[in-house]
Amino acid sequence: MIKEKNLAIDDLLARNGITKEFFMDETYKCMLVSILETIVSEMTDNNVKKEIKKRYLNSTNKIITTQRIVYEKTRCKLNEEESIILYKYLYAYFTKNGLRKNYDDSVRYNLLNKQNGKCNICNHCIDISTAELDHIVPWTMVGDELGASNLQMLCKDCNRRKSKNSAYNLKMFLVNKC
Ligand SMILES: [Zn+2]
Repeated sequence: MIKEKNLAIDDLLARNGITKEFFMDETYKCMLVSILETIVSEMTDNNVKKEIKKRYLNSTNKIITTQRIVYEKTRCKLNEEESIILYKYLYAYFTKNGLRKNYDDSVRYNLLNKQNGKCNICNHCIDISTAELDHIVPWTMVGDELGASNLQMLCKDCNRRKSKNSAYNLKMFLVNKC
């Protein structure tokens, strides 16, 4: 059964011209953001938020604390490297100030250049007048705390769809990568 599933995935990827490596990489990133989403949504309850904050304040090893929090809230077992990423996200969540940073045009131009003038999700050609600046890990969770490495340029449609569903890029690259 597992073997058949693997073949189905291989076939789907091949049909859409996507490498397995790319697929695994995107899925992995999506999983980490989805863990963050789960914990952040738990923290809409102010008591949970306070409790997690307190645990970090009293913690002597933030990475192990992160590993434990993630396990308690999601049953996911993270390794050290993944816990470091999640801690970085959660730290950003606690320190973000709610103000949108204004990025100047050079940031947009540089990103668009790096992406060869294409939307980072659907790969359609975009230009500076239509492209929109997007936070890869959503701004609502991490603000601007992760810096430029968390930015990408998207077409209007992808930006609108992704803002409603951060797993959108995972579905989208399967149907529309060219
Ligand atoms: Zn797009």
